[in-house]
Amino acid sequence: MLRNTLSETRRTQLLVLLVAAVFILVAAALAGLVAGSIAALTTTADSIDDQRALQATSGAVQALRKQMAATLRDNAYWDDAYAEVNADTRVDWIIENWASTSADYPLYDTAIVVDSRNVPVVAYRKGVPMEVPPNAFFDDFQALIDAARRVRMSDEVPVHFALSSAGTELVGAAAIQPFESDEALDPKGFYVLVFAKLITPAVLAEVSDSFAIAGLCLDLKPAEGRLAVALKGVSSKDVAFFTWPSMAPGTKSYEKVDGDLQTAGGILILFLCSIGVAGGITVRNLRNSEHAARHRALHDPLTGLLNRAGLLENVAAASDWARQSGKQVKLHFIDLDGFKAVNDAWGHAVGDALIVAVAHRLRDALPKGAFAARLGGDEFAVVTLEGLGAELVPSFGGRLQEALASLFEIDGRSIEIGCSVGVAVSGYGAVHTGELMRRADTALYRAKDLGRGITIDFDDSFDDDALEQAELESQLRATLLKGGISVMFQPLIDARSGAVTGVEALARWRREDGVAIPPDVFIPLAERAGMIDLLGMQVLTTSLNAAAAWPALSLGVNISPLQLKNPRFVEQVKEALEAADFDPHRLTVEVTEGVLISNPEQARRAIDGLKRIGVKVALDDFGSGYASIGSLRRFGFDRMKVDRSLVAALEVDQNAGAVLQATVALANALQIPVTAEGIETERQATVVRLSGCDELQGYLFSRPVNAGEVTALCCAEGSGRTRQGVADRK
Ligand code: C2E
Ligand code: MG
Ligand code: MG
Repeated sequence: MLRNTLSETRRTQLLVLLVAAVFILVAAALAGLVAGSIAALTTTADSIDDQRALQATSGAVQALRKQMAATLRDNAYWDDAYAEVNADTRVDWIIENWASTSADYPLYDTAIVVDSRNVPVVAYRKGVPMEVPPNAFFDDFQALIDAARRVRMSDEVPVHFALSSAGTELVGAAAIQPFESDEALDPKGFYVLVFAKLITPAVLAEVSDSFAIAGLCLDLKPAEGRLAVALKGVSSKDVAFFTWPSMAPGTKSYEKVDGDLQTAGGILILFLCSIGVAGGITVRNLRNSEHAARHRALHDPLTGLLNRAGLLENVAAASDWARQSGKQVKLHFIDLDGFKAVNDAWGHAVGDALIVAVAHRLRDALPKGAFAARLGGDEFAVVTLEGLGAELVPSFGGRLQEALASLFEIDGRSIEIGCSVGVAVSGYGAVHTGELMRRADTALYRAKDLGRGITIDFDDSFDDDALEQAELESQLRATLLKGGISVMFQPLIDARSGAVTGVEALARWRREDGVAIPPDVFIPLAERAGMIDLLGMQVLTTSLNAAAAWPALSLGVNISPLQLKNPRFVEQVKEALEAADFDPHRLTVEVTEGVLISNPEQARRAIDGLKRIGVKVALDDFGSGYASIGSLRRFGFDRMKVDRSLVAALEVDQNAGAVLQATVALANALQIPVTAEGIETERQATVVRLSGCDELQGYLFSRPVNAGEVTALCCAEGSGRTRQGVADRK
């Protein structure tokens, strides 16, 4: 269940982490995609515009050249011009038609005509003769002339860019010839017309406007970061460049929205961070609640010690450690002696406070590496690990007892409590946790069985004993099922007259192999095995039937405290009395003090019930435990039976007589008659008689005898049988 809850929590944690991670990844991927797209859009837009500007500029250069070529073609491939330049008046004609025009003609500002020997006939610039010879003024001038002579009329007129003393010029040349080409004419003999136009800022501005190329410049070398189109010379070399800056419309658009994008990016990062933080907090909360649930599941809420589940887990871990390190794990099971009485006497609040105080003492007594647990009620466990504080380990059971030995002060009350300890050892972690627990439990059981307040180490022989017990238990069950428990009767003697006034019924079990098992063995066995009700009723029925033959005698029958827990007990006694037609007033039920301590309310109910049907109740074995004279009155006992240990003590202890006397005097003061058990000597008989006991029982008068012997005794002597008469049958 706990494991399920924990793994559920762990699954939820993983799920939260996964969802948060997926969300963050998806959001980051989307953000990356958007950023990538924007970057791509920006560069694409920039490059498209650059491409357009490149094409426009190339187109502009082409247009300039074509315009110049067309002008040259119109002027040079012209019949009149051919005739005029070959006439003697050529100079005037040239000046009038071409040279003077160069002053303000938009298509050229320089007009030159060279003859067949390449000697300039006329060379005008801006309407006046040139001061410098053309081939000195223009780079590659002669190459251009040669090119013009080479081309046929159908070919493209050579127009190029060239550097001149004034700057960069658009220069073109064409051989002057009749419009209808005449193959008979030798091109070498042609005059050549040259037009040139300086690329001025005005020209640049016009190109820039016409072709929408902002920032167009003329440079000899393309400047860094600017776009450029080369202006080719006659020999195809780069003479100069048209350059202009990239408009970068994408970048500009991006720059416009950059602020917004950064804000959006910031918001996204904040959003993702908050998802991360929220996920983190959720996971932390889950982890905390998992820790809390785990702590709750493995700890006892009252003391904060480990609980049974926590102990099992820690013992398993300790065993692993011992296995690896070659050490041993010692498990101590501790049971508080008399805790129930504390609980019953002062209530659960005091009981709880005592449990907490015990837990504190245990904790304080722990050596290094050891741990303690509360298994429920007044049961605790301590685990020590040899090798960590090994010097404390051998006597640790004793130490635990010492730790709990001193008085507990709780709510102004001084409470004394002891403990029984059962110890089991797992060398090298070889003993499985469940088995280790069983062994410690067996040892504890043994410690309690042997009278409490002691530490018992588990021994393998305990298991043999347990087997024996199991065997004995099944034999007892078989005997009970066939009604094989017999009853002996021990006479009760009137202290004054010495007459037999009654008998106490005592259960007897002789196994099929003939071995007699004492009641001190089979009664507790029947109690443990849940057979005591059956046994008790068999003894009662047998006794009632037998005692019906002795009308003058009272009958004492022992009842186990466990029988009083049976809610039908009183009813069953009543039924048995009726069945045997037995006068209830002749019956005395003997109960031991254990029941008063372990369950006073139940005891009171049962005692009251018995008394209501006329049955008397005696407190048996008084003085063997803790029962007080006060409880005699509180529970309304009709008789007290002084335990034989008090009587036996008369032989060895000088004060025993005084103790016995005081005890009997107190009972008598409460008008409760007292029977002395275990009288074996005349001296004991005298002392108990003088102490005030009105009834005596013991081997001095008779051992327990069978029903026939009691009948014989009654018939022979009548109900007033003397002490001597009974003593004869010892
Ligand atoms: P008890 O009720 O105190 O019985 C008296 C015990 O003292 C008997 O032992 C008896 O044999 C023994 N006894 C009597 N006189 C002397 C004596 O002079 N010296 C010595 N040393 N012992 C003496 P027994 O029969 O062995 O019974 C032991 C206990 O077992 C009983 O103590 C009683 O508590 C329990 N018991 C016996 N029969 C039954 C029964 O039918 N039901 C229950 N619940 N308990 C029974
Ligand atoms: Mg008895
Ligand atoms: Mg007794």
